[in-house]
Amino acid sequence: MEYARQKERLVSSLSSYGISDRVLDALRKVPRHLFVPEVHRDRSYVDTPLSIGYAQTISAPHMVAIMCDLLELEIGLKVLEVGAGSGYNAAVMAELVDSKGKIYSVERLEPLAGFARVNLEKAGYDNVDIILADGSLGYPQEAPYDRICVTASAPCTPRALVEQLRTGGLMAIPEGDMYQHLYLIKKEDDGSLVRKDCGGVTFVPLMGANGFRFESKP
Ligand code: SAM
Repeated sequence: MEYARQKERLVSSLSSYGISDRVLDALRKVPRHLFVPEVHRDRSYVDTPLSIGYAQTISAPHMVAIMCDLLELEIGLKVLEVGAGSGYNAAVMAELVDSKGKIYSVERLEPLAGFARVNLEKAGYDNVDIILADGSLGYPQEAPYDRICVTASAPCTPRALVEQLRTGGLMAIPEGDMYQHLYLIKKEDDGSLVRKDCGGVTFVPLMGANGFRFESKP
């Protein structure tokens, strides 16, 4: 079956998660097979995480959809992603914020930062910047952000990310080690945080200074 039909079948199946039409449409527009290593390409439109090497994964489409929905990504927003991986989640978010918005996506592993850049270029996204850095520290150069999407599980919410989230902004972040939960955090006008537990998830660990452990060289 050609990719277009496989993609449509996958996206239609995701409506069972209660995903908004806007996010489903964004998933329809992004060619996931361009973000998957060749060896796994025939499974691009199966709702599962896939290896992208270096012990990392491209997240399952339903998880990308759930996080994008929680973040209420509107046209024109400035978004920080921590954990670029393949660049796929960044591409879906880029569709949602449109050319008036911007995605800054930080990746700590150099080969994956390169992989994400090449994939995004092939897929035609020019409103995404991939930054090679420790994203557990955020990316203060472009702060504050309207939204922050963390795609690796943190030991707890990094203070740097809270500081770089604008007032009224939303952050989606998985937290925990063996048992992880996805949290949606809203930064209120007085700077206080409202946390909503969105249920159990499985992500690779967030490494780095505010992650599980610091390694100077991956
Ligand atoms: N968003 C990705 C995608 O669409 O393919 C999937 C992300 S993968 C589940 C998690 C990524 O977070 C990995 O690429 C990993 O190298 C990265 N990561 C882990 N700790 C990080 C850190 N401190 N800074 C930046 N990236 C980090």
